[in-house]
Amino acid sequence: MQIIKNIHSWKEIRESLDKKERIGFVPTMGNLHPGHLSLTRASRNENTQTVVSIFVNPTQFNNPDDFTHYPRTLTNDLDLLRNAKVDYCFIPQAETLYPDNYHYQISENLQSIDLEGAYRPGHFTGVLTIVMKLLQIIRPHTAYFGEKDYQQYALIEGMTKAFFIDTTITVCPTIREDSGLAYSSRNNRLSPELRAQAEQFANIFHQGSTCSQIESNLIQAGIEVEYIREKNNRRFAAVYVGGIRLIDNYSLCAL
Ligand code: AMP
Repeated sequence: MQIIKNIHSWKEIRESLDKKERIGFVPTMGNLHPGHLSLTRASRNENTQTVVSIFVNPTQFNNPDDFTHYPRTLTNDLDLLRNAKVDYCFIPQAETLYPDNYHYQISENLQSIDLEGAYRPGHFTGVLTIVMKLLQIIRPHTAYFGEKDYQQYALIEGMTKAFFIDTTITVCPTIREDSGLAYSSRNNRLSPELRAQAEQFANIFHQGSTCSQIESNLIQAGIEVEYIREKNNRRFAAVYVGGIRLIDNYSLCAL
């Protein structure tokens, strides 16, 4: 696996690749887990070259504490990516990605103000801006995103259509631990007691009753609920477990 630390090096490689090559791209913030690796597998199955980026994007954190404590585990991440037979890992610096000091931004003003957007001001503008930058740099044929962050995926797909970006956006299923808890980098911050509570969250959220029933069951289990909502035949949740914010969602069509 080739590690690329600057934009110029990747551009040279990108230029030298044969036109027949298909490039799959998986953007991540690192601290990789089986959810991320399912995306690299999907990319390897459908492309001849897979690029993974690792960048903890400061502009999408509305909570500075969350940014500071975001787990950074680069050495282990690189081992996982090598084992997963990823071809290129792009690890840029914030200064190179934001030469404009974030004065230029991509924002959406309809879907992004609901659900996550209502509780995380500026979050989706940070996400859309960084994904746009990465798509412009990597120029992949297909980019892979997790259903775990469904609203993010939907906004990114909308953005690529709105701006005529030549990349297909593919969504991959949420990968869960045996307990039902969705893999997330934030799970690593949970103590054993909080992990038990997080598993309870996944369990109660999947019990298929009404949103208000789910909400009262969560509150009874001592879990702080930010929202439980249904939209477009999908159920979404955001909760706090010991100050750590967890999200989940699933399609109601599958029930
Ligand atoms: P992150 O590193 O959290 O920015 O996530 C990078 C990508 O991995 C995003 O497209 C996420 O939706 C996806 N992802 C995160 N957790 C999971 C999971 N448990 N299952 C599937 N995809 C995931």
